[in-house]
Amino acid sequence: MAKQLIYDLDLNSITELMTSWGEPAYRTKQIWQGLYQHFYSSPLQFPNIPKPLREKMADELDFTVIEPVRVLDSSDKQTRKTLFKLHDGHYIEAVLMRYGEAPLHLPPNPTQSYLGGVSRPKGVDEGGKPRRTLCISTQAGCAMGCVFCATGQMGFKRHLSSGEIVAQVMYYARLLHEEGSAVTNIVLMGMGEPFHNYDNTMAAIDRLNDADGYNFGARRFTISTVGLVPQIKRFADEKRQVNLAISLHAADDKLRQSMLPVNKKYNIDEVLGACRYYVNQTGRRITFEWALINGVNDTPEEARKLAARLKGLLCHVNAIPLNPTHGYKGQATTRERAERFKETLEQAGIPCTIRMRRGIDIQAGCGQLASTEKSVSNNSNNPKV
Ligand code: SAH
Ligand code: SF4
Repeated sequence: MAKQLIYDLDLNSITELMTSWGEPAYRTKQIWQGLYQHFYSSPLQFPNIPKPLREKMADELDFTVIEPVRVLDSSDKQTRKTLFKLHDGHYIEAVLMRYGEAPLHLPPNPTQSYLGGVSRPKGVDEGGKPRRTLCISTQAGCAMGCVFCATGQMGFKRHLSSGEIVAQVMYYARLLHEEGSAVTNIVLMGMGEPFHNYDNTMAAIDRLNDADGYNFGARRFTISTVGLVPQIKRFADEKRQVNLAISLHAADDKLRQSMLPVNKKYNIDEVLGACRYYVNQTGRRITFEWALINGVNDTPEEARKLAARLKGLLCHVNAIPLNPTHGYKGQATTRERAERFKETLEQAGIPCTIRMRRGIDIQAGCGQLASTEKSVSNNSNNPKV
């Protein structure tokens, strides 16, 4: 029988396991803290656990969970991408982005905010800590088939278990811990559609959020979805503190449908309706993602259409130049066109940020590395959303 993946176990499951092994209740806490506060990666590391139990844990539980097989650093060393092999031979990837290596005090020539006040240096959070953002995967492949996305182009392989999602975070948490640093933000924007794998994704977030474990604040997670309406509503009803981003990319159905096939199932009106419901339920601002594709969706006209649709919604737009992929002929926008797009939106009252692409030289775009790795056969039919 395959061993159980250690990160698949929540607190209750570890308690039950320890009880079934005749162990005292305090073992659960020792294991939980060892995993999530000391980042142990092998049972043999747990100093407060007797040797026979450590050996039993090694026999019965899998501590590797996901195996790093390739590591790529960008030339400026600010972005690292790791390719992981899963037990059944599929591949996933997770990316670490470092921001704000700059001094923690304000720079000599601080940037002025538009209100005339002094703003924080870029890439530094409220506490003055440099940002360490992880981009993690929720599925091997993806069933949504967005035409410009490397993960979409490879098709769906399978859902990740909650433990496989948690393991990506722990891998980088351990690495940063060793250099005296820590993860500050987690975005579920790697391979896969998190709302297609809703339960495992939320279980992973809950596990990472546990105050007696890794204690990673809900507000520092961002989930990105292609726009699965029932799940957006469910998420709204759960009133989680997790940030929500919606991949919109087009302001009319015809164009969106040509890029995101899921738009046939949930059109823009339905998606925006769910977004309004979310904002009403939670009072939280929503982010819209927009990959700027030259001549396709980066025109002032498209920006005006978008602004009209978003009117009155508590939101902002995150636009990023398209990361070109083999399977799609569209090109990235230019800096000038991106600026114009942003200005047009802002003139219409919609805040917009242009994000620069990170890790282009290491194929850090979603799914770009894993899609070049030969995995075992695609053993699934795209399941229904
Ligand atoms: N499935 C989710 C999250 C993973 S994709 C979603 O689609 O939202 C994360 C983001 O990267 C999405 O906004 C997606 O549209 C965007 N993306 C995918 N391929 C891209 C590319 N080639 N260039 C720029 N953005 C891309
Ligand atoms: Fe899937 Fe998101 Fe890529 Fe679309 S953009 S194929 S939903 S991972």
